[in-house]
Amino acid sequence: MNITPEEQKPCPELPPNLGPYRVETNVSFVMSVRQNEDMEFGGRSKPDTCTALQKIAIVIPFRNREPHLEVWLYNMHPFLKKQRADYGIYVVEQNGDAKFNRAKLMNVGFAEAIKDYDYNCFIFTDVDIIPMDQRNLYRCFKNPRHMANSLDKFNFKLRYKTVFGGVVAFSKEQFQKVNGFSNVFWGWGGEDDELYQRVIAMGMSIERPTQEIAKAKAFVHGRDTGNERNVKTIPLIRKAKERMKRDGLNSLDYKVISITKHRLYTKITVDIGLPEGHLF
Ligand code: UDP
Ligand code: MN
Repeated sequence: MNITPEEQKPCPELPPNLGPYRVETNVSFVMSVRQNEDMEFGGRSKPDTCTALQKIAIVIPFRNREPHLEVWLYNMHPFLKKQRADYGIYVVEQNGDAKFNRAKLMNVGFAEAIKDYDYNCFIFTDVDIIPMDQRNLYRCFKNPRHMANSLDKFNFKLRYKTVFGGVVAFSKEQFQKVNGFSNVFWGWGGEDDELYQRVIAMGMSIERPTQEIAKAKAFVHGRDTGNERNVKTIPLIRKAKERMKRDGLNSLDYKVISITKHRLYTKITVDIGLPEGHLF
């Protein structure tokens, strides 16, 4: 029987049969493609028997981390399908070898994904974090949500009360309300804490799954070349509230170099420029 989308029922609020999930690390792209031949190119999928309540864009900042991406995709497609998500994967790759800017890549992912589909929920995730429990819903909630609060590499402990890195979920409205991430954090660190300050400054608060449900695998790795620690974060974070009106989605400037729809993800390669004051 053919059911047209109009006749479909909305999916249940909570997908059935969710539980602990064992992350598979011994994988390859070929294995993932074989497992996911039902996908639309660009890494899009949606439940076929009901209409999902949210349309979710998953944004991954990226440069030179193929092995992690391979593992992420292998595990996350089945995970998201199990959660009956209507979703698309956007891998936003920084071109060139300037300092890495995770936050700006997230903003680019948001700006490009909304051109693609009517997304109303955005999950911004590192490429090296994979949930260990399917009850950790990759969705949007009443408040911006932090979902990387219980990582194996930190013994499943919350590192500090306001931590907001790794994986976060924002509805489209919530993300626009904070004007996205700051664009001026080059190198490692601080942009996640600054985003937390934006959320608070706009009168919102954050929420998290329980430490049990949020359990996740985070790969241990060295610091990447080009992503050295940013030593100038404290004054930036302190001024988050006043800067957020002019630094973020509304000041986002970049050049798309290419957009490629692979079977398992959409790769957006982008020139995001250089830090202000950069000299050759
Ligand atoms: N990242 C990347 N290439 C880099 C640096 C960072 O792809 O050279 C991305 C990747 O998604 C990574 C995220 O940015 O998971 C955060 O960086 P990192 O993993 O170094 O942060 P940490 O785990 O040390 O908090
Ligand atoms: Mn990492």
